[in-house]
Amino acid sequence: MSAPSLCWFRQDLRLSDNPALTAAAQEGTVLPFYILEDEEAGTEAMGAASRVWLHHSLTALNQALGNHLRVFVGKATDILPQLIAETGATSLHWNRCYEPWRISRDSQLKDTLQAQGLTVTSHKATLLWEPWEPLKADGTPYKVFTPFYRRGCLQAPAPARPLPVPSDLSLYQGDVGGTTLEALSLLPTTGWDTNLIAGWQMGEAGAHQRLETFLDEGILSYQDGRNIPSQSSVSRLSPHLHFGEISPATCWYAALDRFGFEDKNCDVFLSELGWREFSHALLYYNGTLKTEPLNQKFNAFPWRTDDAHLSAWQKGMTGYPIVDAGMRELYQTGYMHNRVRMIVGSFLVKNLRLPWQEGEAWFWDCLFDADHANNAASWQWIAGCGADAAPYFRVFNPITQAEKFDPDGTYIKTYCPELRDLPAKYIGAPFLAPPFILQGAGITLGRDYPHPIVDAKQSRLDALAAFATLKESA
Ligand SMILES: Cc1cc2nc3c(=O)[nH]c(=O)nc-3n(C[C@H](O)[C@H](O)[C@H](O)COP(=O)(O)OP(=O)(O)OC[C@H]3O[C@@H](n4cnc5c(N)ncnc54)[C@H](O)[C@@H]3O)c2cc1C
Repeated sequence: MSAPSLCWFRQDLRLSDNPALTAAAQEGTVLPFYILEDEEAGTEAMGAASRVWLHHSLTALNQALGNHLRVFVGKATDILPQLIAETGATSLHWNRCYEPWRISRDSQLKDTLQAQGLTVTSHKATLLWEPWEPLKADGTPYKVFTPFYRRGCLQAPAPARPLPVPSDLSLYQGDVGGTTLEALSLLPTTGWDTNLIAGWQMGEAGAHQRLETFLDEGILSYQDGRNIPSQSSVSRLSPHLHFGEISPATCWYAALDRFGFEDKNCDVFLSELGWREFSHALLYYNGTLKTEPLNQKFNAFPWRTDDAHLSAWQKGMTGYPIVDAGMRELYQTGYMHNRVRMIVGSFLVKNLRLPWQEGEAWFWDCLFDADHANNAASWQWIAGCGADAAPYFRVFNPITQAEKFDPDGTYIKTYCPELRDLPAKYIGAPFLAPPFILQGAGITLGRDYPHPIVDAKQSRLDALAAFATLKESA
């Protein structure tokens, strides 16, 4: 049996537009494999929802590869040398990932294996532009999104066009050990994932279907509709993009070729893909993005500790329906609409004054699209300590946000069904409803739905006062 080229699948669980797979296939027989790397990831090991997604995504990839995906658990630094020794492989391909632990591990691994005579090639597949490509004229990285995207990205050479699925893929048949997908134990034993996965089709086919539906429908109202959580104007491509079931270049060119930059909806959608690039560039240049505020001044911020408030926020029991609907959407579906992510984030770090890292950690565990770069950068943005961040003094009012973005309460009632009979006027703030209205809607506050855990106005003032101490200490 001739030696195969090794193709290491990581965050690129697809056959199309997969440069590592294409390059390996051009060399001859391919051995595709995946390694569950909890040990090496350490504190950045995948959260519970991501593991559920991964299980289904790997299952789909394995099917697409005719059941020839090999899976392993452990350290890549232990597994790869064994795989090379057993197969006699002389070539290894992977697509680049950008988490700090992977970057340093990958570069060490590459040096070691190359020193042993293996040809190791890494490829660009996960981003449109490498983080080190869009640089300011003075050679330093951008800190503000608009020039990063409009100048740094759009004026750089265009991303490569997506590659087709390699034709005549010849897959290695030999036995190389490893384990089964089931043995990875990615699914919970209690069955809480049954409802979670409803409405999603994990895997490459599902990703392409999602993109097609979005291009036929959602994108037509994307610019304004993307702010209305009850509308299906957004793509919901984020978990598919995170796991690499579809490439950003495929999404980029599918939208661009059909609508062009001159179409406002398309332009805004492409710029959201640009935010994804920006977050990855921020992470690349700031390895502690997940834990340390970019604006160091925030190290002195007087955050509170309050387990009861944190728990109420996590459970969607704050007494502010738009916040509670968002947190319940997250827990029930593994997803939360972007507008609502901003509202619940602002509520946590400003009204409750709890550390943004607590929010980051909860999202990490609950989101299907939990992504080191996007999650950390977005939380820093919300907290006001990130790059190009929302100023700390801009506090989203959970009542007016509900009035503006969910005026008839369609979204709130989906996730807070106990409020279904409340008139639209009070849906964003049941505690402001007169007793007879509450009675008519069958709601007793404190029994059917919580009293607000903080006063929105007072907590905003407290947050601003806390922020002022930073200015004084600067
Ligand atoms: C507090 C907070 C935490 C977040 N955590 C994550 C996360 O862990 N993973 C994640 O993918 N996104 C995260 N986001 C960004 C954004 O909310 C999601 O990418 C988006 O809601 C996904 O839905 P969609 O695919 O329908 O987005 P669409 O509006 O259809 O956008 C298309 C794609 O663009 C990218 N994108 C859109 N907005 C952003 C953004 N602000 N930053 C970076 N990329 C963006 C995503 O890949 C998304 O799939 C977070 C935002 C906030 C405010």
